[in-house]
Amino acid sequence: MATGAEGGAARLGVFGGTFDPPHLGHLVAASDAALALKLDRVLWIPAAVHPFKLGAVAAPPEARLEMVRAAVAGDERFEACDLELRRAGPSYTVATLRELHARHPGAELFFLTGADNLRELPQWREPDEVVRLARLVVVSRGGEGVPAGLAYPAMAVPVTRVDVSSTEVRRRIGAGQTVRYLVPQAVREVIARLGLYQTNL
Ligand code: ATP
Ligand code: MG
Repeated sequence: MATGAEGGAARLGVFGGTFDPPHLGHLVAASDAALALKLDRVLWIPAAVHPFKLGAVAAPPEARLEMVRAAVAGDERFEACDLELRRAGPSYTVATLRELHARHPGAELFFLTGADNLRELPQWREPDEVVRLARLVVVSRGGEGVPAGLAYPAMAVPVTRVDVSSTEVRRRIGAGQTVRYLVPQAVREVIARLGLYQTNL
């Protein structure tokens, strides 16, 4: 039974991504969204194989889960969730949200995503179900809002703009440059220990 801080239904953030690797942009966005929406918790859910990113994932699933665990350790609002990695095949948001409702009866779900992802919503599996199961929240960097013409309800939450991307982190590591301050120290340690992203793809 999921209950919130005051004993009401829990307000759960659902933050999906490739997290290849997780970086400070993700942390600041999740933190600001949690504050603005009074979320009790934010579940970070690395995707097994992102349907739109097939073939482009550089680190194996277990490594991405380990990096997410390292990134969120120490923030009691955040939790790494291996739900999508345990499921066989690609992870559809609708299936994840159904599973989360089963695990957290009565919880209100807030699906956090960047505007870039949300533009693809009409191509997601069962978009009508997705918006029934969760409130869609655009983490809005630099004033960008809900994509114009989106045929589904969504809200924008302003977050501090931190222009880091996983692509840039991977590129830097491949080029032998430091990613200090762009990813948490604990994530850098996992990257170094596992020797991730050393080859520039
Ligand atoms: P890549 O460069 O490989 O596309 P990414 O940095 O976009 O990676 P993802 O794992 O794809 O990271 O992102 C997960 C979610 O976080 C997406 O909804 C994305 O829009 C959002 N996001 C990514 N980077 C930032 C950032 N700097 N600030 C806020 N949100 C972000
Ligand atoms: Mg991206």
